[in-house]
Amino acid sequence: MNALDVDALRGSVRGRVIAPADEDYEAARAVFNGMIDKRPAVVVRAGSVADVRSCLDFARTNALDVAIRGGGHSAPGFGTCDGGLVIDFADRKGVRVDPATATARTDPGATWADFNHATHAFGLATTGGIIGSTGVAGLTLGGGIGYLARKYGLSCDNLRSADVVTADGTFLTASAEENADLFWALRGGGGNFGVVTSFEFNLHPVDMVYGGAIIYPAAQAQTVGEFYRGFIAAAPEEFGTFLGFHQGPPVPFLPEEWHGQPVCVVVGAWTGPMEEGEKRWQPLLDAAPVAGSFLGPLPYPALNTLFDALQPKGMQAYWKADFLSELSDGALSVAIEHGGRIPSLESANHFYSIDGAVQRVGPDESAFAYRNVNFAPVIAGQWNDPADNEANIAWVRDYWTALHPFSEPGGYINFMDADDQHRIAQNYPGNYQRLAEVKRTYDPENFFHLNQNITPNPVP
Ligand SMILES: Cc1cc2nc3c(=O)[nH]c(=O)nc-3n(C[C@H](O)[C@H](O)[C@H](O)COP(=O)(O)OP(=O)(O)OC[C@H]3O[C@@H](n4cnc5c(N)ncnc54)[C@H](O)[C@@H]3O)c2cc1C
Repeated sequence: MNALDVDALRGSVRGRVIAPADEDYEAARAVFNGMIDKRPAVVVRAGSVADVRSCLDFARTNALDVAIRGGGHSAPGFGTCDGGLVIDFADRKGVRVDPATATARTDPGATWADFNHATHAFGLATTGGIIGSTGVAGLTLGGGIGYLARKYGLSCDNLRSADVVTADGTFLTASAEENADLFWALRGGGGNFGVVTSFEFNLHPVDMVYGGAIIYPAAQAQTVGEFYRGFIAAAPEEFGTFLGFHQGPPVPFLPEEWHGQPVCVVVGAWTGPMEEGEKRWQPLLDAAPVAGSFLGPLPYPALNTLFDALQPKGMQAYWKADFLSELSDGALSVAIEHGGRIPSLESANHFYSIDGAVQRVGPDESAFAYRNVNFAPVIAGQWNDPADNEANIAWVRDYWTALHPFSEPGGYINFMDADDQHRIAQNYPGNYQRLAEVKRTYDPENFFHLNQNITPNPVP
């Protein structure tokens, strides 16, 4: 291949163009998962739609793969690539809130911390991720599970419209009224259909929440798990939490003897009337002896950044996912066995509750098809030393192998890794055929394939 004319690209975009010879190239090629060691030919900090179109032209002319990066959190590292062009939206983080219509329009590089900061000023929020540094873009396009999901649905359920540049450079708006097939596919189908340059969301009155974390000794996990599944099934939708397994984090509210020890947790928030918060959480405090707890009124953005310091960029990571109709005795005993052996402080195993408003959207109303399951488990292996890769990856795989018999065939694409591509059709029961059709319409050559890939090929 001829040398790339990076100067020509520089001349056709306003955003910064970073090539291997540039001093910030090492930082620019890195994504959240430190295990991903890819070397793109060029990283473009795209500004406008015009920049995106120039990038796509340049990539097409030079036969380059294109990776799209919002927050860069994808566990498989889809926000970078070897030898291709990365469209990186790190410099586009603007969020404009319209309090009169309770909507917000956000740029594609905003994180949930950026988004929540902007909307909280108006006492508003929408469903986002549980960590502040995760990108709005990738999380929403894959579905979007968080503390507000039971009450307000997935992030993608709150998407009103999206501006998209498709593979051939066409600029479109997708909404219920315009390009409705594309809008349908964007809500759960991931980054398969084009480059989203702007997202418009519905917002809801969420201001202070009553939340935090309860940490139990792992020895109490059976009692806690059995209690939690009944409790959350009956809890009002304002109660948005997950059950999880961790090593005890070094936080002030957990006595030192529990730091690094296997623990079971319930984390989240009550978003109903503040004066009811203490009473709403009390049954969980009474369910089993507690190792430590931190509960109280918090601004919603504070809840969403509470654990960011425990999730720094650059850790090694390997993830797996499933969907559970119920937290059955079998699934719980697998969780107790494998969750109780969680191998690092940064690893997380969460069972997110996705009932309530998530289930009020029909399975064919958006690409996100699993609307009848109650839990989305993630086995998120994360650790610091590459020397520990084999042991940590083995923990994730063994755990998933044991859990999967209690699961639906598919899982949540945003919790999956690069070796889960063979599950792609299973993640969209009833919807995959239609997703492939939309792909054929907007990206017939599979130009955007660095993702959990929906191909344009007819489904056998
Ligand atoms: C610490 C951590 C916490 C997490 N917590 C949650 C959680 O609470 N809830 C949840 O649902 N998920 C969570 N996730 C998973 C998260 O949803 C995915 O990692 C998601 O892909 C992150 O989006 P991003 O923009 O940061 O990622 P990126 O790596 O930038 O992108 C991910 C994918 O989205 C595509 N994409 C990104 N931007 C665009 C765009 N503008 N146009 C088109 N395609 C685009 C990319 O091509 C890629 O395939 C978490 C991940 C991490 C690492």
